[in-house]
Amino acid sequence: MKKIVLASKNIDKVKEMRRVLGSLPLEILSLADFDDMPDAVEDGLTFEENALIKARFFAARTKLACLADDSGLEVDALNGLPGVYSARFAGYHADDSTNNQKLLDELNLRGVTESPAAYRCALAFVDTDGTEIITDGKISGTIKLVAKGNGGFGYDPYFYIDADRTMAQLSVDEKNLISHRGAALKEMVLKLNEKVLQFL
Ligand code: IMP
Repeated sequence: MKKIVLASKNIDKVKEMRRVLGSLPLEILSLADFDDMPDAVEDGLTFEENALIKARFFAARTKLACLADDSGLEVDALNGLPGVYSARFAGYHADDSTNNQKLLDELNLRGVTESPAAYRCALAFVDTDGTEIITDGKISGTIKLVAKGNGGFGYDPYFYIDADRTMAQLSVDEKNLISHRGAALKEMVLKLNEKVLQFL
């Protein structure tokens, strides 16, 4: 069976991606299956550029087909930040907790209690024969200062999908049905299905 590497070290993202890609006749690996894999330098200005940088980098190193995700949160009141800087919003050693605190601090600084926002995701697939496929997804919502829920990851406890439910209150399957990554993954599965006969 053809192998594909999910080029992410984020176990929550890998979990969400595995769930959707499980329908394809592929053996799914992740970077955790490889020793001492270096990090790609994500210096693109868009989610698409960064996803392609990662997929090309890890396809070259693993000599396998790679699927990489780049995603983030865009908050209207912060002029689209943190955007491509979502993972490192609070600095180089940031984690979910410090990034969320930074988000709250930036909103408080501006006297904003809630703001329209969107999660965006780009996926890039790079095959060993050089084939490249890119898909995108987006979900709009509202960032509020009050956290709710223990699921998901990142900014999910502050990302309201409706008047009172956050992304962190959804199961993995519920999140995949509506999320930016779920949308990009579904489109990617459709496009990979067109290639799948070559994989078998
Ligand atoms: P990346 O790993 O460079 O793509 O950075 C993605 C960052 O964006 C994550 O570390 C989170 O901070 C944020 N992010 C992306 N997708 C989600 C999501 O589904 N929920 C919450 N935060 C997300």
